Amino acid sequence: MKHPLIVGNWKLNGNKNTITNLIIALVNNLSNISKCNIAVAPPVMYLDIVRHYLLDSHIQLCAQNVDVHFSGSFTGDISAEMLKDLHTRYVIIGHSERRIHHKENDVYIAKKFSILKKIGLIPILCIGENKNEYDSGYTQSICINQIKTITKLIGVEALKNSVIAYEPIWAIGSGNSASPENVQAVHKFIRDYIASCDVSVANTITMQYGGSVTPENVIQFLNQKDIDGVLVGAASLKADSFAAIVQIAEKYEQLHHS
Ligand code: PEP
Repeated sequence: MKHPLIVGNWKLNGNKNTITNLIIALVNNLSNISKCNIAVAPPVMYLDIVRHYLLDSHIQLCAQNVDVHFSGSFTGDISAEMLKDLHTRYVIIGHSERRIHHKENDVYIAKKFSILKKIGLIPILCIGENKNEYDSGYTQSICINQIKTITKLIGVEALKNSVIAYEPIWAIGSGNSASPENVQAVHKFIRDYIASCDVSVANTITMQYGGSVTPENVIQFLNQKDIDGVLVGAASLKADSFAAIVQIAEKYEQLHHS
């Protein structure tokens, strides 16, 4: 049985002082956790500061982005090797905010996926539909197409041991999370699709839900068979709410899978 994976995406927030306080509080509040995998994704320039506080903690480091090149004349970019150098374990790619604001498409995201696999970092591949697509009933086809680009370009094997975060764009930062039953149906559809390509790969994939997850609603998501964790934005910026989400997941695991 996989432990649930809880990741906090801090996006473009904080400064040296607030980030230091946040990570110190999380390390203190989450020292008892043994049944959840936890990671935090600070802005890239604070990765090393956060890493310093994680040395004696089981909280892992996650990056919010990576470039498609290993090195060279790419001003302003950050390579997978640099992230690995700082002991980063996970990297978020395909987040809808990068797809929208930086025009990143599925092929470009597949390149990032490939680079991360080559270097031994774990991609957290974000997928999901916008409101119009949701209203028109295209959720499943949108999600499958986003995954298909990767399986076509680099093969289904590449998905082994990776993380897929289903994040309906309309649920992100809106305060309106998707219904846990709908998320379960989407996750099952995706896992079944991957299983139709390769069953052994499908079983290794961690499937997270993301979109307005809070301490109040997280249990409903964790209760679903195909939801293996959550990707948390706004609620991860406060130590109390992110720690509460993780503690709820820990208790759930103790009750159901010990
Ligand atoms: C996100 O941006 O990945 C996210 C899930 O944000 P929020 O929790 O704020 O909806």
